[in-house]
Order: sequence, then C-alpha cells, then structure tokens
Amino acid sequence: MPNAIVVGAGPAGTLLAYVLARRGVLVTLLERQTDFAREFRGEILMPSGIAALREAGLHQQLDALPNLPIGTVELFRGEGRVATVQVAGLPTPPRVVPQPAMLEMIVAEAAKLPGFKLERGVTVRDLIYEKDRVMGVHADTLEGPRDFRGDFVIACDGRASVIRKRAALPQDRIMQGFDVVWGHAPGQFPDARTARGYIGSRHLLIMYPSPEGHTQIGWVIDKGTFGDIKKMGDGWVGKLAPYVSPDLRNFLVANKSGMAHPFLLDVICDRLREWTAPGLLLIGDAAHPMSPVGGQGINVALRDAVVTANHLGRALMMRSDEATLDFAARNIQAERWPEVVTIQDMQQVGPRLLLSNSLLSRVVLSAPLIAFAKMFLSGFLARRLDPFLNGVTRVVMEQ
Ligand SMILES: Cc1cc2nc3c(=O)[nH]c(=O)nc-3n(C[C@H](O)[C@H](O)[C@H](O)COP(=O)(O)OP(=O)(O)OC[C@H]3O[C@@H](n4cnc5c(N)ncnc54)[C@H](O)[C@@H]3O)c2cc1C
Repeated sequence: MPNAIVVGAGPAGTLLAYVLARRGVLVTLLERQTDFAREFRGEILMPSGIAALREAGLHQQLDALPNLPIGTVELFRGEGRVATVQVAGLPTPPRVVPQPAMLEMIVAEAAKLPGFKLERGVTVRDLIYEKDRVMGVHADTLEGPRDFRGDFVIACDGRASVIRKRAALPQDRIMQGFDVVWGHAPGQFPDARTARGYIGSRHLLIMYPSPEGHTQIGWVIDKGTFGDIKKMGDGWVGKLAPYVSPDLRNFLVANKSGMAHPFLLDVICDRLREWTAPGLLLIGDAAHPMSPVGGQGINVALRDAVVTANHLGRALMMRSDEATLDFAARNIQAERWPEVVTIQDMQQVGPRLLLSNSLLSRVVLSAPLIAFAKMFLSGFLARRLDPFLNGVTRVVMEQ
C-alpha cells in the first residue's frame, strides 16, 4: 500500500490525512502536541472552509459540533454605528467553530479508517534525504528519537514550519505593520449572533460571540508594541475603551478582569515560491502563512487539503513513480496559487487604508464617504469581498 507522512495536525494536516486515508492511502499523521487543547487559533469558518469540509463528506459531523452561525455584522466608526450587514441570508453564513473540537472531530472520523494512524507527542526535527529525495522525517517522540519513512511527505506544520526551514525553499515575505492582541470576556455580547467591527483612523477592533459562551475580542496594534500592552494586565481595556461604542465600553469595563491575560498574534504574511521538492510538499500555513484580515487561514488550509488529496491521493493510489508523484505535487501548487495570491493581495488593502494616517485613509473613513459607499457601492463591495467568503477557485473533491 502507498504510504504518506503528514506532519502537523492542524486544519490542513487533519483534513488531508482523513481524505487520503479515505482514498486507501496509509497515512501517518505526526503531531507534536499530545492533545488539541491548543491556544486560541481563530475559529471563524467561512463558506469556503465549510464547503471544503462538505466536499470531504464531513458536513453532518461539523453541524454536530458546538457552532454559532453569524447572523449580523455591525460596523462602527468610533462610537457610531455606520452599517449593519445581514449575513444570515447568505446561502452559507460564516460560523464560529472552536478549532480543538473541529480537529478532534476530523481525527475521530479518520480513526475509523483502516489506513490512518495519529502519532501524538511527535516533534519532527529534520528531513531524511536519499539521493536528494525526501524519504521521511527524523523526529523526537515521547519514547526517544525515531524515523518515519513514506512514499511522500506533506508538511502541514504551520507558520513556524521546521520543514520549511530544513528544505530551505525560497519565500517572499509581505511586510506587515501590525499585530493583533486577542482576549476574551465572559458572556456573548451584544448577543449570540452578532459580530462587530470598530474602524477608526489607526484603530481597528473586531469582536464576535463564541459558542463556548464568551466574546472574543481582537484589537489591532502597531507591530512590536505587545510587550507594553501585556505589562498593563487588564489595563489594556482602558486603552481600547475610548475607541468603541458606550455599550461595548461598559461591557468591557465590567468584565475587564477576564481580559487580564491578552495574547499576541504576531502577524506574518508570506508565501514560498516553491511548495515542493522531490518527495516533499508543503501546504497550509507552512507554505503560505496568511494575514488575519478576513479570517482566511483555516479556510485556505482546508481547501489546500482537498486539492492535495485529489492530486496526490490519485498518484499514490496508482502507485506512480517518483517523477509522477512530484508532478502531482507541483500541480497542487499550480492549482492553489491563484487563490492564495489573490487573497493575500486583498489582505493588504484594508490595513493600508485603515491603519495609515494618510489623506486617502482619512477621506475613505469619513462619514460622508461611508454613507455613499453604503448607498451606491454595496453591490460592488460585496463582489470585491466575495473571495474572503467563497474563495477564488472552485475546490471540489474528486470521487
Ligand atoms: C492567534 C491566532 C488567531 C487566528 N485567527 C484566525 C481566524 O480567526 N480565522 C482564520 O481562518 N485563521 C486564523 N488564524 C490562522 C489559522 O489558525 C491558521 O491559518 C491555520 O490554523 C493554519 O492551518 P495549518 O493546518 O496550516 O497550520 P496550524 O493550524 O498552525 O497547524 C500546524 C500543526 O503542526 C504542529 N506542528 C508544528 N511543528 C511541528 C513539528 N515540528 N512536528 C510535529 N508537529 C508540528 C502544530 O502543533 C500544529 O498542530 C489565527 C492564528 C492565530 C495564531
């Protein structure tokens, strides 16, 4: 039987391992953590990510998880609400789904398949090469060092990928001038269906209710200033309070002790020029860490997994030679590239406008222009933002 080594059990690695195993490939999924109770990693599933799970046949299982469809998005300019967007009417509204529950669900489904094995507590350290071809990985396990060998290695080990470093593949970094501070407060504010964005010159705050009964708050800060905010403890609430509406301000102040341990999303956005080397493919954040703008990372990673299973699953099951496997891997990059590049480019526009103090940004954020956009440009804007909801290319699971 053909066998694949998948490194990293995030959204990309778990879904890929599941669909490959469903196709009959023997899959060993290596994960350094011993459980999925990971730190907060974002939990908004866009229609594009939900579609990927549906393509993989996991839609019912997804519905059974704690999840919360977003019904309304309210946009504020400082204290005043300038727009209310109903998203409940979309064919598939975005949903908030805690990542640990989603990952547990996918591996539980994979564990029902005979070819699937999850090895937890395994930290990959390096690649095994034979005549310039990747043949497996060296890892540290809870019992000591161990090698894992396979017909192909797929690296899904995230934004700090060790495999990316070992393979020394060239990358293009898109400089980011901001980071995001995340915190959460108990209770769903303003209710269990509404997300909000507070936009201001050099300020941006987003918040949404979580199915776990709290409100998740993300505040955009200048890159490198998190150290100062962390030192404040719950005092950071006082820093952001002047930029939000009175109802949210009261909610935050009342719950500020719950926000005493903010944590940082160090924003990076880059992509490898080459996602493959002989015997190796990188997908998800390992190949192209996404900016948080538009909540895209999970969704793009899930879509990478479906496309990878199509090309590589087919090639592995046909017991293809090495050249054909490598060709399949290059086709995966070719198919995913337009979506990744389009979305990463779109992700740069918002911060450039919102977080600079340029004349253009002040004009765009002025109340009359927002009113004009609401009246005359809403259809145009919806079309422009559609890739954030539905992706750019069609991602369909081959039978
Ligand atoms: C704070 C924060 C907030 C975010 N918010 C959002 C959001 O709202 N919406 C959104 O879509 N995206 C969000 N993201 C991004 C999103 O989490 C990622 O884009 C997505 O998880 C990428 O999936 P992945 O499978 O490629 O990598 P990851 O989810 O990073 O998974 C990589 C896995 O590999 C494992 N691993 C790493 N190194 C090794 C190793 N050497 N050996 C074995 N295992 C290894 C890790 O433990 C991890 O389980 C956020 C990220 C962060 C950090």
